[in-house]
Amino acid sequence: MAAETSAPPAERPYAFAEPIDPLVRRVLARNPSPFTFTGTQSYVVGGEGSVAVIDPGPDEPEHLEALLATIGSAQLAAICCTHTHRDHSPAAAPLAARTGAPIIGCAPLTLEDDGPRADAAFDVSYRPDRVMADGESISGDGWTLIAVATPGHTSNHVCFALPESGVLFTGDHVMGWSTSVVSPPDGDMADYMASLARLYEREQDRVYFPAHGPAVEKPRQLVRGMIGHRKQRERQILRQIEAGRPRIADMVPQMYKGVDERLWPAAGRSVLAHLIDLEQRGAVARSGEEWKITG
Ligand SMILES: [Zn+2]
Repeated sequence: MAAETSAPPAERPYAFAEPIDPLVRRVLARNPSPFTFTGTQSYVVGGEGSVAVIDPGPDEPEHLEALLATIGSAQLAAICCTHTHRDHSPAAAPLAARTGAPIIGCAPLTLEDDGPRADAAFDVSYRPDRVMADGESISGDGWTLIAVATPGHTSNHVCFALPESGVLFTGDHVMGWSTSVVSPPDGDMADYMASLARLYEREQDRVYFPAHGPAVEKPRQLVRGMIGHRKQRERQILRQIEAGRPRIADMVPQMYKGVDERLWPAAGRSVLAHLIDLEQRGAVARSGEEWKITG
């Protein structure tokens, strides 16, 4: 999920394997929306021999068949999910059932049945065969995937590095078309900022392949811009409180003027994530739905 978008172009290569790197093919799912841009992009890593699928996407027959056709006669060594939002992981189980491949990657969310974390956007059916901790890797014919823990967008988010190509699969953590929604309580702005800083330190990544939107060719430049953007949002929120708008519902229309109003509720979640981060740092305090500056 993401916010702050422009409209996607009309013609898109749905259910089609696009070669975008000697080791990577991209398959776009037909689930476009203000949150998914043109749709979820699944990646097939490797060629003949063995392959891995990153973010199999929504459980839609057309997309599943397109993934199976792209895998072809290769052995599917692993189905890897960056996180368990419903546009990313639901096709993992049917793909595993059709191929016998293991589901390896992010952890499942530990959701209470009716607790505050039981968000409808989460795929609660996700059952990995193996969770990859930060730095763990899997490999196949000519490829290696290394887990890079990047909590923030969700608590279980991981990116996958493909060192043979200098590619980082960034899921929803960093995308070129949009900023990432950070929705508490599972989304955490302090974690998100730390995960951005972590990617900025990685000089080995030549290009990012995100789950939505085009490849990012100058990734560290984008990450530095995103860190700046988030700090700017934080200052904007403090100014809103100073200007006599202590409630998120009053801040969002001011802060997100010109942004598709369907995205305002998600934007409000990101504002809340910033406020919780500011509260933990002692800069603001909450009383009911109202926030005040304490720092
Ligand atoms: Zn997501």
